[in-house]
Amino acid sequence: METVKTLILGGGPAGFTAAIYAARANLSPVVYEGIQPGGQLTTTTVVENFPGFPGGVDANTLMDSMREQAKSFGADVRRGTATAVDLSARPFRITIDDETEILAQTLIIATGAQAKYLGLPSEQKYMGMGVSACATCDGFFYRKRTVAVVGGGDTACEEALYLASLAKKVYMIVRRDVFRASKIMGDRVLATPNIEVLWNCNTQEVLGDGMGVTGARLLRKDGTVFDIELDGFFLGIGHEPGSKLFAPWLALDQNGFILTEGKSSRTSVPGVFAAGDVQDPTYKQAVTAAASGCMAARDAEKFLLENNI
Ligand code: NDP
Repeated sequence: METVKTLILGGGPAGFTAAIYAARANLSPVVYEGIQPGGQLTTTTVVENFPGFPGGVDANTLMDSMREQAKSFGADVRRGTATAVDLSARPFRITIDDETEILAQTLIIATGAQAKYLGLPSEQKYMGMGVSACATCDGFFYRKRTVAVVGGGDTACEEALYLASLAKKVYMIVRRDVFRASKIMGDRVLATPNIEVLWNCNTQEVLGDGMGVTGARLLRKDGTVFDIELDGFFLGIGHEPGSKLFAPWLALDQNGFILTEGKSSRTSVPGVFAAGDVQDPTYKQAVTAAASGCMAARDAEKFLLENNI
């Protein structure tokens, strides 16, 4: 069985930054990119707030560059997703895609977070048939059509703005009478003529004809129920950390984010480190994920040194 010094799970900014630092420290890291190579960032279009790119940078280009940079220092980047872990003893035992087992002296978890859904049966029924949690992946199909985005945070605003550039009309379904989003994003939404914000509204049901989405039934806070006609229904209500696999072994917070010790990436199991959105309920930015990936690699390096590995 293959034994590696440092195994990194996740191919987003945290995973690749950890790989760059670990490779340069001669830890010969192996990276498994997971379900979404490039991470969550690849579901967006242009990244405007990553330092060093005054005109913004295409998200896929940014992630391809990080991957290439990691490889250039010798990181072994592989396709595959961890499907089981045993963190009861070192080296840790990790199963990839239910078939390959790997032993890891140190483990860096950078598995990010995933989009949340409302949990309606009708939403589930029309998943991939008009229901989506990724505007940049699926927006193309709704050119000159009518769509809705649920949520009032930065994600929802970003999705609505992107969709507004393609679709004829975009509704934003916001459950309160204010955005949670940053002011700049909210203002951009309000200044976009083909976006209509439906304040104080919750979705009761996604409507469809069996083949695809045709609308949504909404309940306004004042008790009014009304339908809107739609071709697509997008979710932008936040994310869930990719920590389920590790829950039996590691200390998590009440929302499932992996707990790390003080200003470090150390988890409750020595030799296991966490970086990026899987341990960050607060900042969730590419640049903070990258920074925590660096910390995790440096913490892993120190751990290996202290344990003479
Ligand atoms: P947030 O948690 O910030 O916002 C979630 C939004 O969805 C809120 O408006 C919330 O309503 C609403 N919501 C949650 N659950 C439901 C539900 N069941 N039904 C209806 N509405 C619901 O998540 P985001 O993903 O938007 O953002 C997460 C973090 O990432 C933030 O810190 C954000 O700033 C950051 N981010 C930054 C970006 C950027 O800078 N370009 C882009 C995207 C995200 P309520 O307000 O009532 O709770």
